[in-house]
Amino acid sequence: MEYGHPRGHVFYRKMARSYPCITRGEGIYLYDENGKRFIDGSGGAIVVNIGHGQKEVAQAAMEQMAQAGFVHGTQFTTRVMEEYAEALAGVLPQGIDKIYFLSGGSESVEAAVKMARQYQADSGEVERWRVASRWNSYHGNTLGALSLTGRTGSRKPYLPLLINFPHFPPPYCYRCSFGLTYPQCGLECAKALEKMIQMEGPETISAVILEPVGGATIGALVPPEGYLSKIQEICRRYGLLYIDDEVMAGMGRTGRWFAVEHWGVQPDIVVLGKGMSSGYFPLSAAATRAEVAERLKEKGGGFVHGHTYSHHPVACAVGLTVLRILQRNRLVERCRERGNYLMKKLEELRASSAIVGDVRGKGLMTAIEFVKDKKTKEPFPRSAKVTEKILDTAFEHGLVLYPGTGFVDGINGDMVMVGPPFVVEEKEIDEILQILKATLSKIEEKIS
Ligand code: PLP
Repeated sequence: MEYGHPRGHVFYRKMARSYPCITRGEGIYLYDENGKRFIDGSGGAIVVNIGHGQKEVAQAAMEQMAQAGFVHGTQFTTRVMEEYAEALAGVLPQGIDKIYFLSGGSESVEAAVKMARQYQADSGEVERWRVASRWNSYHGNTLGALSLTGRTGSRKPYLPLLINFPHFPPPYCYRCSFGLTYPQCGLECAKALEKMIQMEGPETISAVILEPVGGATIGALVPPEGYLSKIQEICRRYGLLYIDDEVMAGMGRTGRWFAVEHWGVQPDIVVLGKGMSSGYFPLSAAATRAEVAERLKEKGGGFVHGHTYSHHPVACAVGLTVLRILQRNRLVERCRERGNYLMKKLEELRASSAIVGDVRGKGLMTAIEFVKDKKTKEPFPRSAKVTEKILDTAFEHGLVLYPGTGFVDGINGDMVMVGPPFVVEEKEIDEILQILKATLSKIEEKIS
């Protein structure tokens, strides 16, 4: 049976392809109804951290559904939510311990934007409402989150609907916006934030939002040493809140519970999603310091926000079980170790392939950038659809990767992210690399 547009009644995300129908998952593998095996080399969209098919998670969801499948967040609490919030506060960056549960990353980004705005207004800074973000960032696809997202292709069709939020350049050392080299550059990319704040008017800006390790738009972009602390310093100097978007990088993905821990910075609001539930249930959160929550209570009587599915007991049961599995099986440490192994293998791939320009990442959040010319770093023209070809060929060979395009100049730029579940074994990483190598050889033949 072929699944895809225009058969059936599903409005598929991609209408030009057909879809295998998955009937089972186990560890890093997915199996379709014909028995074909796929290696989930990117955990979907860098979501599945604990691996597929963990029955304990299903059991926890089922038990909670049998007890109380839904209560409204304005009317009741549940023991499972209280327990989960306490456990999560124990692993969140220090001082971040008031957690507002939601059901998707974009939703939580928007909650964070409103939280920052209300905090500023309740603190007497009534003009502060705009949030600064970076080009080549990803913060979601709902209109508020898309206004922050710095991905040209996703923004273009909806520009008239977007909010006027300012953007500044990312710390993309492989293609520095300022033509400089670290560390002689003096972190010009971080200083660009200060310049932007001054030009826009600091009194209009409530917060800055950043992915600590750049994700789906630019591919596992690790900031240079000193970059995030410089950003934090600028936020403090101009009275801005620092929103740390850990939807992709958080919950252990970079080998620490939260990626900001690598650089010792202290955000005011942390946004979580994806790995919180490892994809087993829609779950996300915007978490902040007690002082921020208290300010909202003092002045506005609380956070002027809410959704039907916020503070969902089944989502919390899933989240708590995923957290316990991560802790019990020491999966964050394991992610760090396996990540080191994966990066070593990716470096070998860079050395041996004519089209791998850069490999980067932390833990099991990694990416490969493809170029036409390794010396000049010239990207492939978008019309060559190199990312799509690599993705499709790898998929045919049973390897799932996560793609990204357009990050060089808004149109060109090709990369794939590699980010298997933390349960991946070294020999499975070897297999991923074997398929990648075979894929790249085929593509190099085709385009040479
Ligand atoms: N923020 C970041 C850093 C993300 O990577 C994503 C999704 O990829 C989002 C926000 C949006 O999350 P969602 O797709 O769950 O709305």
